[in-house]
Amino acid sequence: MNELFKEASYVLNRIEENGYRAYFVGGCVRDHWMDKPIKDIDIASSAKPEEIQRIFPKTIPVGIEHGTVIVRHNHVSYEVTTFRKEGKYEDFRRPSKVWFVTDLEEDLSRRDFTFNAMAMDKSYKLYDPFNGREDLAKKQIRTVGQPDERFCEDPLRLMRACRFISTYHLTIEEKTKKAIENNASLIKRISVERITDEFRKLLEGEWAGPALNFMKTAGIVKYLPYPIEEKREGNLLAFNWNFLQTAEQKWSAILILSKVKDYREFLKKWKLPNAVMNQILKIMDAYQIKHWTKMDVYRFGLDTATLAMELKYADQCDSFEQSVQRLKELALDIPITSRNEIPIDGEDILRIKKEKPGVWIGLLYDEMEKEIVEGKLPLSQGELVDWVRRWEQK
Ligand code: ATP
Ligand code: MG
Repeated sequence: MNELFKEASYVLNRIEENGYRAYFVGGCVRDHWMDKPIKDIDIASSAKPEEIQRIFPKTIPVGIEHGTVIVRHNHVSYEVTTFRKEGKYEDFRRPSKVWFVTDLEEDLSRRDFTFNAMAMDKSYKLYDPFNGREDLAKKQIRTVGQPDERFCEDPLRLMRACRFISTYHLTIEEKTKKAIENNASLIKRISVERITDEFRKLLEGEWAGPALNFMKTAGIVKYLPYPIEEKREGNLLAFNWNFLQTAEQKWSAILILSKVKDYREFLKKWKLPNAVMNQILKIMDAYQIKHWTKMDVYRFGLDTATLAMELKYADQCDSFEQSVQRLKELALDIPITSRNEIPIDGEDILRIKKEKPGVWIGLLYDEMEKEIVEGKLPLSQGELVDWVRRWEQK
């Protein structure tokens, strides 16, 4: 078992020794099941915050009214939250009321998606009342309970769903997807800071392209702090996101791919910190350089120059893929792949024109082929015969 869980077991054991129940919950259980690195360990417990404060010598009361206390053990912080149920989210930010409950399942039922509503006890036994594992096996994101209600209750979940597409390469289950499309405009009610925070996590994920593309098709992009509109159709998806390393590069990619005129205004709308904003603007300046000189490298510094180069490479891959895509689209639009597919031959032409064979047949054929390929001449016997009849050598 993962070292982090082993260390954290101490906290579960101490809570249980005091007569309460305690479980690992949320992101750490999800990541453990997906064999992904675990960031931080959250714990849910039947103990009330003041009881947790009594049990552990080092605690930080970060959100007592919502039941959360941080327990410090061996220099690591653990968020311990009392099992709770939530009231209506009246201001679309936080529940107007929370109730402490005694049942783990009730606590899990307030969580957003099935794979985030799993818990594990100290012997690593899994509690999965909403079939999160099954959804993970199907690689799908599904809300706990009725999706429309869950998104209305807290529209940040719309952003979280998109973020999980990017982090785990999941798709969205049909009903959940419909609900996202129906409720996309609720994004407007969330604070910019919370949107930006989830969006940053989305950009950090490996599958930012599919996630952004989903945001586009679900109609979310237009409610973001500054709407993201693609410069060229399909480029959010085709862009080589994996080539980029830093968050600043990824924000720059958004600027490159979308119809943004004033970069500074765009970044300000997202309320990005000044340092981040300046670094993005610097990368964008460097990105404009076509032929690098010593002076340019000196001016921007090698780091920024490299970030801009990578961005360019990612963009070129995009245009390569796009070009191939465009070629494919053109090919689909051509009614024949060779001359043999033209339904009249040399003999037919001689019969129609009632002339002696000669070079003119070759010329006629070349012209007819061109007209067909360009879509100017339909591939029907009647139209072709008419066309041959009308044809005259220039
Ligand atoms: P991360 O990997 O970013 O930590 P996370 O899912 O753990 O992702 P947290 O904000 O740490 O996100 O939340 C911990 C748990 O709390 C989630 O796994 C989920 O069970 C629950 N949760 C978080 N945000 C919401 C929300 N908006 N609505 C319902 N449940 C939520
Ligand atoms: Mg977490």
